[in-house]
Formats: sequence, C-alpha cells, structure tokens
Amino acid sequence: MTRLARLSLRVRLALALVAVAVLAVALAALLGNLGLEPRLNDAAHARLSTSAEHTAQLTATVYADAGGWSKAAREELAHIAALDGLRMAVRLPDSRVVAIGPAPSGATAQAPVVVRGQRIGTVVISTESGALLTAPERHLRGSLDRLHLAAAGAAVLAALVIAALFAETFTRPLRRLRSTAERLERGELEARVELGNEPEMHALGRALNRLAETLEHEEELRKASVADLAHELRTPVNGLLARIEAAEDEVLPLPENLAAMHDEALRLARLLDDLARLGDAERPGLLLEKQSLDVAEVARAVADSFAPRFKEAGISFEVALESALVRGDPGRLEQIVANLVSNALRYTEADGRVTLTVRLAGNDALLEVADTGIGIAPEDLRHIFTRFWRGDPSRSRSTGGTGIGLAIVRELVRAHDGRIDVDSTPGRGSRFRVTLPGG
Ligand code: ADP
Repeated sequence: MTRLARLSLRVRLALALVAVAVLAVALAALLGNLGLEPRLNDAAHARLSTSAEHTAQLTATVYADAGGWSKAAREELAHIAALDGLRMAVRLPDSRVVAIGPAPSGATAQAPVVVRGQRIGTVVISTESGALLTAPERHLRGSLDRLHLAAAGAAVLAALVIAALFAETFTRPLRRLRSTAERLERGELEARVELGNEPEMHALGRALNRLAETLEHEEELRKASVADLAHELRTPVNGLLARIEAAEDEVLPLPENLAAMHDEALRLARLLDDLARLGDAERPGLLLEKQSLDVAEVARAVADSFAPRFKEAGISFEVALESALVRGDPGRLEQIVANLVSNALRYTEADGRVTLTVRLAGNDALLEVADTGIGIAPEDLRHIFTRFWRGDPSRSRSTGGTGIGLAIVRELVRAHDGRIDVDSTPGRGSRFRVTLPGG
C-alpha cells in the first residue's frame, strides 16, 4: 500500500482540494506575470530610448555651443543628466568614451549625437540605479506577487474548510456502515444500516443489510437445525430405550419387539448416513472421480431400482431418457438422481405421476424430475436446499426425511459445475431441473 492510500478519506480529500486551489492560483500568477512583465519592460525600454534621444539632442546643443568636449560642457551635461535621474556617457566614433559623471550601468539605451548633419558620437544612458523599471513599477510588480500569495493563502484556507465540511458528509455514511458491520461482527445480527440518500452508499447499505438478513436467517436455521437434529435423534433413541426397557421388564416379549426395534435402529442409521453424506458433499474440494459417462445410463439404473416402490405406492412412473454425455462421477450423479426421485416419490400421493427425463439442451445435459405431488409454497422455495430444512408437510408425514437430501444434491451439482432450478406450485406438483455441462 502506498503512503497516500493509507491516509484517511478526509485527509485525501483535503489534500486534493488544496492541491487544486494552489494549482489554480499558481497558474493565475504565472499567466498574470507572463502577461505583465514584457509589457512593463517594453514600456520602460521605450521610455529609456526616448530619454536617450532627448539627451542626445541636448548633448548636440551643448557640444555645438561649447565647440567641443570642454570641461564646462561636460559639467553642464552631467548637471542635466542628474536632473533627469540619469547616468550618461558619450562614445566617440573612434570608440573612445567621454565620461560625464558616473558611467551608465545595467539596462542602457543609446542615440546618435548629430551636430550640423554630422554624427559626432553616441549617447549611452541608463537610470541612476541601473534598473529598467522605476520604483513605482517595481512596487506594482511586488504588490501583484503579494496579492497572488494572499489569494493562494485564501484559496488553501477555503479548500480546507470545504474539505472539512465535505469530508464530514462524505464519511458519515461510511461510519454508519462500519458501525453496523462491527455490530454484526459482535453477533448482533439484528443490526441494520440506516440507508442514506447517496446512491452508492444506498446500494452498499442495502447489500450489507441483505447480508445481515442472510446471516440472521442462517443463524436461525442453524439453531433450529441443531434442535431438529436433537429431536430427530431423540425419537428413535427414545423408541429403542422404551422397547429395551419393556423387554427387560418383560412387559413385551423380546421377539415381538424386535421388528419395531429394528425399524428404529434403521431410522437412526439413515439419519447418520445422511449426515455423513452431507459432510462428505460439503467438504471443500470434494474428490470426484470424473469420467465421461452417459447421464441416461445413470438415470436408467436409478429408475430400475425405484420402479417397484412406485408400483407399490400406486404412482405412475414415466421415464424418457436420451443419451447425454457429461464428465462426472457416476456414484455422485446416481446420488443426485436418487435423491430427487426419492423426494418425488415421497411427496406424491397415490394415483399421481412422476416423470424422469434426460435430454440434451445445446451442449448441456438436462435431467428433470417432475411430479404431480403436494408442491412447495413459494416462500419455502428458497429454503429447500438448506440443510435440515423441511417443509411442514414433510415434518408431519410419516415419510418425511431428514431435510438433508436437497442440500446434498446442491453440493454435488455444484461440484459438477452444474446448476439446479426448481418450479413448483402447491397442490399441483414440482419440477427439479439439473443442468450439467456436456463433456
Ligand atoms: P427431506 O428429507 O425432508 O425430504 P430434502 O432436503 O430432500 O429433505 O427436501 C427439503 C424439503 O423440500 C422437504 O422437507 C420438502 O418440504 C421439500 N421438497 C423436496 N422435494 C419435494 C417435492 N418433490 N415435492 C414437494 N416438496 C418437496
């Protein structure tokens, strides 16, 4: 992380605004100076040139009156130059210099000295100080610089104030999100963010609230499922205990009790089996022995083994299988089909119909198990793949399972990079559709 990225939003905002303010003022100062400086200099040059011409004319007059560079003439010229605030000298055509007072220095201007049509030399002048600009001009430039500095200071101050105000409104919703996230972390799963007006924060807040709802729901389910599991285990274990005690007390003779005890033990074994299989399916990086196989063949084997049970239940069982090749684990795929078919059998009344279909859809293999059974209420649909969740009808039915089957199915379908969808209408039936990528 760079040093800048570690700064708080507030500081970054302030820095950005200050940078913009300073840049704007610096630019204004630069452009102002670029525009002003050459104009001032041009005006000063023109002024010095005019002075040079004027001095050259005076010099010509003095020279003509004195008839040469006499001491008196030079003193008179020095006097005139001093009065004008100038330094001057005359350069003769043979490059000798006639000094008149202190020599000119710094910025100079020159003009020819012409006496009776003949150039007798060149006047060179400079200001007393050698500077091109006069004191008021220099003062003007300095005060402009000071004005720019003051403007920069004011802009920085304004940027800081705006940043402070903005940062406050900017970070308030973030602080709200953070405090809600911290409450959730502490286990207060009922915590929710108050949604603000800013669209981004609103969306973020809603996402966090949805996450909190899911967490709360999962937590409720977890609590309920632990209670459910205890209940599931207690029923067969209590049954077994009661029958063992009855046999010990010789209330019921053991041989008559044995079949019922066997049933209870089977129920217990089935529950433990389901739990073990779920644990297996939920293991990260579930080991699948994938090979190229035909889903129709897997479905055929499951259909054959279930056919007698459908017959016994008085439910018509229709099977329509088209060859559909995928890469998958035959044992796991069989588990998927068997779980769906077993549910269809358990949640369909006598005289109903269950259809098992396998077909190709584009590149994908589609496996469908449809029934004309009791169906699933719309509000229950999103829960059915949650482990231990069972619909009310399932709880009250003697055929009801452990609420683990569909959780296993979902994990196994995921492990095959597939998808499972369900359509259901209460009282009319359900249709589970597994889509597996072809291979
Ligand atoms: P269970 O062992 O209770 O059947 P599942 O995980 O297989 O557990 O299914 C979860 C719940 O989904 C069931 O309790 C039942 O309410 C509902 N369900 C599953 N399949 C069907 C179906 N074919 N028809 C109606 N309800 C179903």
